[in-house]
Amino acid sequence: MLQFPTSLPRERDRRVSAPRRISVLGATGSIGESTLDLIGRNAAAYQVVALTGGRNVARLAELAVLHRAELAVVADPKGYASLKAALAGTGIEAAAGEDALLEAARRPADWVMAAIVGAAGLRPTLEAVRQGTATAIANKECLVTAGAIFMAEVARSKTTLLPVDSEHSAASQAMVGARRERIERICLTASGGPFRLWSLAQMADARPEQALNHPNWSMGAKVTIDSATLMNKGLELIEAHHLFSLAPDKLEVLVHPQSIVHCLVYLSDGSVIAQMSCPDMRTPIAYSLAWPERMHVPNGRVDLAALGALTFEAPDAARFPALRLAREVLEAGGSAATVLNAANEVAVEAFLASRIGFLSIAALVEATLAAGPDLVAMAPVTVEGVLAVDSEARARAGSLLSRFALAG
Ligand code: NAD
Ligand code: MG
Repeated sequence: MLQFPTSLPRERDRRVSAPRRISVLGATGSIGESTLDLIGRNAAAYQVVALTGGRNVARLAELAVLHRAELAVVADPKGYASLKAALAGTGIEAAAGEDALLEAARRPADWVMAAIVGAAGLRPTLEAVRQGTATAIANKECLVTAGAIFMAEVARSKTTLLPVDSEHSAASQAMVGARRERIERICLTASGGPFRLWSLAQMADARPEQALNHPNWSMGAKVTIDSATLMNKGLELIEAHHLFSLAPDKLEVLVHPQSIVHCLVYLSDGSVIAQMSCPDMRTPIAYSLAWPERMHVPNGRVDLAALGALTFEAPDAARFPALRLAREVLEAGGSAATVLNAANEVAVEAFLASRIGFLSIAALVEATLAAGPDLVAMAPVTVEGVLAVDSEARARAGSLLSRFALAG
């Protein structure tokens, strides 16, 4: 069962005359800002309902005023007073805390961008899905951590789910019109990150600022580190498994340093359909925003003559063990993906704080999985159950951190 749109939209998704009511969860982040950039270019076509941010109150207030939002919510309750002060006299409601985030996701809207980073996005995103609001999903961690529950809720509420991750957007574009049984496999591409050509010894000493220096994409810190370890591609394999209901053996990864081809879909007649675009998230965001139409995006155009060559290579499993871990997790089922995701969030934070080395990110994830067979075997059927596993996995990863601590 394909859960992304391959057919014409339902009536409520194709209101063209009235402004479309849209909300952005994670508005102050890289994806949120790119989404609002597109919306701001055609402001009359949209009514911004709710914008949310994690902690950056000043930017959230600025965006809310700029886009005349109805409601602005800061996740950190400590931000309430300053948000309220910044929005005084604007008529924009201010709120803070987790319940307010859920309320923002529940506000009636035609389309919502789910762009909170990490498992923190799970409950708000699910809340939007439950309302039946067409949901553009950038927050891959919520599919990784609770994929089965999430997709069951999408099916139950008959919500249109629009993939935003560039590879998954590319896959959904390349699959339009293809019957499910005709899809033999799909291949997600990876840039290879900043350490594609580094030796293991060099990677062992990689510093956060080097890992944050992505060759092609400009993104938030967490996904940039995930791109350097290739954990991002591991998370994306799990994301694709849930989004497209494809078995793990139908999912592949190729390193493609130019980041022009985002996904290849292999069909049973021997055809391979690929989607190409310059590495700018506004293209997949625009596809989700304009779907089933297309909209103008003022970014670069693919110039194959100037590029000269598009190259592809197999990922190096020895230097990038995160891909193997993601595959093992897919095979293991249960809560393995929840544990992997939680441990990875802890590990990335510790690496960014220079508490552990670069190679210890995947090592900590592997150690957390190995140390918790009881946790991995759990199969919660509720979001609360998933969040309990998530928080226990974070605690266990946290307690294993000292094993990997950098000296000094
Ligand atoms: P980001 O760090 O730039 O922004 C994250 C947003 O979430 C911000 O608005 C932040 O304030 C908010 N946030 C952080 N912690 C929060 C919490 N605990 N509660 C509520 N809000 C919180 O991240 P990003 O790069 O925009 O990525 C967002 C999501 O999109 C991630 O899941 C990422 O994997 C995915 N994604 C991003 C890109 C990209 O190019 N940036 C590409 C593909 C997928
Ligand atoms: Mg991606």
